[in-house]
Amino acid sequence: MVHWAKNVTELVGRTPLLELKRFAAEEDRSGQPSGVVAKILAKLEMMTPGGSSKDRVALQMVYEAEIQGLLRPGATIIEPTSGNMGISLACIAAARGYHCILTMPDTISLERRLLLQRFGAEIILTPASQGMRGAINKVIELRTTRSNVWYPQQFYNQANPRAHRDGTALEIWEQTAGAVDMAVIGVGTGGTLTGIAEGLRAYKPGIEVVAVEPATCAVLSGGRPGPHRIEGLGSGFIPDTLRVDLIDRVIPVTDHDAVETAIQVMKDEGLSIGISSGAVAWASLQEARKEANRGKVIVTVFPSAAERYLQTILFDDLRAQAR
Ligand code: PMP
Repeated sequence: MVHWAKNVTELVGRTPLLELKRFAAEEDRSGQPSGVVAKILAKLEMMTPGGSSKDRVALQMVYEAEIQGLLRPGATIIEPTSGNMGISLACIAAARGYHCILTMPDTISLERRLLLQRFGAEIILTPASQGMRGAINKVIELRTTRSNVWYPQQFYNQANPRAHRDGTALEIWEQTAGAVDMAVIGVGTGGTLTGIAEGLRAYKPGIEVVAVEPATCAVLSGGRPGPHRIEGLGSGFIPDTLRVDLIDRVIPVTDHDAVETAIQVMKDEGLSIGISSGAVAWASLQEARKEANRGKVIVTVFPSAAERYLQTILFDDLRAQAR
């Protein structure tokens, strides 16, 4: 049957699930037991038009706002974000004919800025000294000075977890034919964790849910917010889009372990992944080595690919050598 999409938004979601056979092999290269006793399956969220798990969320927020009449023809979508949400919103705004303004600290990489502009988004830079607060204040100002604007607010909008509950979780359930025992999920807005936990537990209440956060910003573990290099994780507070009551355990991961594991997965699997994917891969491996998890099926989510992090610690060593 001939089939093609008529809008890029039709291509969002339905991402593949990959068993990390070599990264989580039961035997090491020399044939000795590696200590791994469970399977790790990764949901490849980079395989979507906008290149990250945020495509689903951006699209769901846009759909719901259209239905509720909050987002009208000719509207401008405004959001403070320097991350993957900006790219997904810029793509979806372009594909559905909206204008998009993104505000962000001026430390954003030139590469990222140019990409956003190519999608037709307008970029407003705020002083890095004000952090994300500066970008948020700019959006608040724009709301009063511009007409027909819509502010999706990914840290508050419940369409964010819903995108994962009705999409990602359902797909994982179907792709594993219900064999999934545990989900190991990185927390930024918490939308992915909340949606997957709600969705999977509706089918199988005993599913274990493990949250992953940066070790130096381990707020879920009761620590204090602090700087870290795992882009997308660890916002430093507990967002409205995160249901902490769904979490069984929290695993803090260092920047170093996240990066080294991302590099390892790229070499073992030939799969391009970002820093937060490295963090969840590291946490999944800890779970896969526990005797209590023998024979279990662990599902994790890889939010984005390495290409998005060329200017970060993921490539520090190679950039230094290349000079
Ligand atoms: N990793 C990356 C690279 C991300 O962009 C995000 C989303 N900000 C996450 C992880 C965390 O996802 P969530 O916001 O659903 O918690």
